[in-house]
Formats: sequence, structure tokens, C-alpha cells
Amino acid sequence: MEVYLDNAATTKPFEAVRKRMWETLEENYGNPSSMHKKGVEAEKYVREARETIAAALKAEQKEIIFTSGGTESNNMALIGAAYANQRAGKHIITTKIEHPSVHNPLFFLEEQGFQVTYLNVDKNGRVILEELAESIRKETILVSVMYVNNEVGACEKIDEISKIIKEKNENTVFHVDAIQGFGKYKIYPKRLGIDLLSVSAHKIHGPKGAGFLYVQNKVKIKPILFGGEQQRGLRSGTENVPGIAGLSKAVEEIYKNYDEKRTHLYKLKKYFIDRIGEMGGVMVNGIENIPIEETAPHIVSVSFEDVRSEVLLHALEEKGIYVSSGSACASNHPQLSGTLKAMGIPKKYLDSTLRFSFSVSTTIEEIDYTIEELKKIVPVLKRFTRH
Ligand code: PMP
Repeated sequence: MEVYLDNAATTKPFEAVRKRMWETLEENYGNPSSMHKKGVEAEKYVREARETIAAALKAEQKEIIFTSGGTESNNMALIGAAYANQRAGKHIITTKIEHPSVHNPLFFLEEQGFQVTYLNVDKNGRVILEELAESIRKETILVSVMYVNNEVGACEKIDEISKIIKEKNENTVFHVDAIQGFGKYKIYPKRLGIDLLSVSAHKIHGPKGAGFLYVQNKVKIKPILFGGEQQRGLRSGTENVPGIAGLSKAVEEIYKNYDEKRTHLYKLKKYFIDRIGEMGGVMVNGIENIPIEETAPHIVSVSFEDVRSEVLLHALEEKGIYVSSGSACASNHPQLSGTLKAMGIPKKYLDSTLRFSFSVSTTIEEIDYTIEELKKIVPVLKRFTRH
């Protein structure tokens, strides 16, 4: 049996996505900038993708800038907004639990003379709102907070965060890394007061190397890539037509039977948590005294007492079960090394944590198989742990 429980790392492209992409490779391979028929055909995919995504976000079409994925969207948002707004101040706020594609551009900006505040989080990985409010100053030009954390599935209170930012400084630009949140939540940036929103296609059953940045009309950002100025003068380079076409199809598909998909994911998550609790010596992270519905539906982070996560990961792989270790994609900065650490998870658990992440096609049977295998493997591995 093959059980893919690493959907926070990437998802399998939907069949409809693969088909749509193939059309752009087989027949409609023109350059969207070309004026002849082949160009017009290709441009149609980009135009329709912009329409579909703008409608899904209740945004304007010109507010969607296609990128090479989440990493580029985050870089463009942070570096672009910092450079465009630096006359108003050089202070930026983010959290200790962001993805490296947020932390690393911010480290770069610190080298350029910007000052960055890294907010703490509570034991469930959520921003402490009072600390955010106290950190915002006149010179704060940018705040960046993720929608859903990729390591533990904490879901930030984006509406409250947005209100606090606008109350304290209405000129502060608000960026949200929604790479794990988009598709699991319907996100309307205008309603939420989000100025910049990063999305990646491969987390929603679309292709790798494609994504977009929503850039609210009035918000100023500078480009980070220079060339032919294809998209609003903000992003140059021939558009990745197969990627954009696949991304658009993935958005369409993920929004079909949307409520059922969410209900299914939460059912899986609750079932998994109940069943893993049968094992003893395990700790599910990020759900202390909060309802499961306040966390993202697709991610469960579990620490296994006296077991090394890499060893368990490969033992599971032997049984056809694919997962990530708990600190998947954590920053390698000494002070910011990972969400689990920021949440105050005891040191002994940091190397004993696995992330299980589900998709709409994950089944209860797959979870049963995974739990049964864990029940067999974990006691054996524990016997090898020296104290
Ligand atoms: N932010 C978050 C929260 C992520 O989970 C990821 C992917 N692991 C990224 C950014 C980077 O996205 P991409 O892989 O599309 O560059």
C-alpha cells in the first residue's frame, strides 16, 4: 500500500490540471506576447487564469501577478514593499515561525539597514496580539504574518491582526504568506485588509514552479526582476503558460464542492488525532485547549517520545508511508530555528517530531494503515534509544 501523507510539502496535480497543462505544451505553445494567432492562443490561458483567480479572491484582475511560486511571491512582497516604502520608515514586523522564504529575504533586508522585529508565538503557534500591537510604530512600513504554519498547522487570526495593524498605523502594508492556507480557507484579501498575499500552485494540486502574488491596487512595491515588464511593470519574463494554466485549473477544482472537501479534511484530522492517542508516549502539537477547527485541516504534528524522527520517517517509508520530519522547512537561523522551538516544545521532542499532512484524496483506510504500522514500528525503535 502507498500512503502519501506529505501534502504540506507538495500535492499531486489533479488530472484536470495535467490535461490543461498538456494543451499548452502540445498545441498552444506560443509566446503570450506574440501578436499572431499562436500568441493570442497562449495569452488566452494567462487572461483566463487571471479572471479565475481574481474571481476566487474577489479581487481585480490587475491585482494578480503570476510568479514562479511561493518563494518568489514572498521575496517580491517583502523586498518590493520594503524598497518602495523606505522613505516612510525602515521597520518591519514578522513572526518567529515564518517559512525561510520570508525569513531569508528579511535577513537580507536587515543587511540593507532595515530593522526587523520577530514576534513570539503562544504554545499553539499563534501570534500574541498584544505583542503585535505594542510593536507597531510610526516607522513600521510592513507586517508579514503567515496564514497557516507549515510545520504544525497553526492558523493565525488574520482578521484581528489586520485590524490591529490598520488601527495602529494605516500606512503599514500587510503581507500574508497564504501558501498553506489558500484552498483550505476562502481568503478575500480586501475584506481582510490584506495588501499582499502569496500563493503557490503546487500546494493545491497544481504544478510546481507556479504561483501568484496578490498586490492590492494602491499598494506600492518595487519589482525584483527586471526585463520586458510583462505584468504591470512588476514582473518581467515570458509567463510560465503551462504553470499558470495549471494553477488556474487547480483553483477551479479546489473550489468545487469546497465545503465537502474541508469537512473531509477535518474528519481525517480528528480521526488521526483520536487514533494516534491510542498509542501512548505521543504528543500532538499545537492543539492544547483549542478546538481542532481553530487549526488548519490538513496538518498534524506529532512528537514521539524517545524516537528519532528521521529513523521513524524511513521506517514508515519502508511500509509505503510518506511523511516529513517535524521541522520541515524551518529557518536555519540560531534564534529562529523552527516553529516547535518558538512554541516552547521541550528540546527532547524537537528531533522526535513528524508532520502528517492530508489531502482531499486521503482516506480513513490510509490513516488506519498508518496507525497500525506506527504501533508496530515505534516500540521497536524505542528499544534502541539510549538514555
Ligand atoms: N511558505 C510556506 C508557508 C510554505 O509552506 C512554502 C512551501 N514549503 C513556501 C512558502 C514556499 O513555496 P514554494 O515551494 O512554492 O516556493
